[in-house]
Amino acid sequence: MESLTNKKKVLEAKPLNFWERAYLPAIAQGLSITIKHFFKKPVTIRYPEEKREFSENYRGLHSLKRDEEGRERCTACGLCALSCPAEAITMIAGERQPGEEKLYREEKYAAVYEINMLRCIFCGLCEEACPKEAIYLDGDIVPSDFLRKDFIYGKDKLVEAPLNQ
Ligand code: SF4
Ligand code: SF4
Repeated sequence: MESLTNKKKVLEAKPLNFWERAYLPAIAQGLSITIKHFFKKPVTIRYPEEKREFSENYRGLHSLKRDEEGRERCTACGLCALSCPAEAITMIAGERQPGEEKLYREEKYAAVYEINMLRCIFCGLCEEACPKEAIYLDGDIVPSDFLRKDFIYGKDKLVEAPLNQ
């Protein structure tokens, strides 16, 4: 039996006609396509000077919300961290002290709340898991940076600005 490796398939090149050998029609066709595109509306934008509108469903940077009285909504229940498939959320719960009623909504609050933006896949599960409507992915894109540590966002970057600011 003839081995498969010995089989040869010879493809013969079709001989070019005069116009094909001259390349002129092909050049003219190529140029006409290029010229046509000069007059079309460009599909690209000059990012970052120009920015596209995000869709309503866009999931961007997280923000930790305040209630109507300006208190932090998060009660450090940990459900967002538990539901995070990327294990991007770290938190440490704190206990509200007398006199801090205006800062925190309930007895427990997130003394430390950090999201590692390099791990986050912006799935939105933390937002869905939160029973206090405290976290939303309603921000902008995560800005680029140089150091890995600068992608760990703490409360200083995540918590909404107080109402009176
Ligand atoms: S968006 Fe998804 S990956 Fe990012 S912190 Fe929330 S649950 Fe984790
Ligand atoms: S953001 Fe929501 S789910 Fe996460 S710890 Fe705070 S209250 Fe719980």
